[in-house]
Amino acid sequence: MRRKYAVTQRSLTIVRRRLVEMPKPLEKLSEIEIEKKGHVSRVMTHVLKYLTSKFVDSEFEWLLPVIFSMSTDPLWPDPGASVEKRIEVEIYGKTVRTTLSMIIHKMVACSLAHPKLFILSPNVRIERRERSNSGKHAYEFTQLDFEVRNASSEEIRSFVEELVCGLISSLKKHMRTELVHLGRYDSLEVPDMPFRAYDKVELESKFGKDWETRLMHEISEPVWVTNVPREFYDFEDFEDGQWDNYDLFLPKYGEVLSGAKREWEYSKIVRKMERDDVKKKNYEVLLKLAKDRRLKPSAGAGVGIERLVSWIVGAKHIGETQPFPKIPGLVFDL
Ligand code: AMP
Ligand code: MG
Repeated sequence: MRRKYAVTQRSLTIVRRRLVEMPKPLEKLSEIEIEKKGHVSRVMTHVLKYLTSKFVDSEFEWLLPVIFSMSTDPLWPDPGASVEKRIEVEIYGKTVRTTLSMIIHKMVACSLAHPKLFILSPNVRIERRERSNSGKHAYEFTQLDFEVRNASSEEIRSFVEELVCGLISSLKKHMRTELVHLGRYDSLEVPDMPFRAYDKVELESKFGKDWETRLMHEISEPVWVTNVPREFYDFEDFEDGQWDNYDLFLPKYGEVLSGAKREWEYSKIVRKMERDDVKKKNYEVLLKLAKDRRLKPSAGAGVGIERLVSWIVGAKHIGETQPFPKIPGLVFDL
């Protein structure tokens, strides 16, 4: 019985491994694969041009990213997060970490100097190696991260909805050849607004632990998932236990954006850090600003650019959208 079980497990692993074909490095691609890479890259270029122009036209300031800082996203507690290693190095006698996300920088910049900001930011997350098979995880990727002082969740969500709908119609107009080649022209449709919203707690009780997979196969248009318990910086109402946050889920794909209204009150932030076992000494500037009431209410979100483009082009693996794939557990020369 035991032996049979072991065999079944092994064959399952092999089947699963075969399901997602790993992207190859650029120098190993065939001519046909290079042609496909070109279509994906032109779609990526259009997406970046469209999104950045929309942010600039809506009077957002475009900030440059950072790579090393003493403070970065704790990525904890987040039910979806799973890094197997955190990169910390010593420079000039201080311990710095590579950017896991620019959330802390966004909150500080938005409060002090840049009320509407966006950043194209490299994130380094050494995801657990088995995540190579999800097809949705890279160990280096780019977030389009944005934040707006005094904004509500509803305002951010309708901005995102307009962005997504505008992007899809622009792609269908300007990227027809590429989308036809990639087999996505007909199936990529401009969604209706407003997007539907589901409460995460309700989804979990309806679908169980596997609610994400069930949801993405049931929907035919993008939807919001709200009220997700996670990191200290997302706003939580201590009275009713509701979280004022949101994720955008795409049909047959899954999560592509996470965002929230943010915490700004010192006592709440401290209480949440202590509850979640987050090291306060890694967030000294944020805490000092909150204590001095210089941290301001804001709301925003971060979109995974490679995931968004993967969905648009129908990629089997996120690495197909990267010129130099960064696949968990698989390190290429470049
Ligand atoms: P998070 O705040 O952790 O949800 O990250 C924001 C967005 O970044 C997610 O909604 C994804 O689109 C994207 N993202 C997160 N982790 C990865 C990863 N390992 N590889 C690619 N994209 C990711
Ligand atoms: Mg998320």
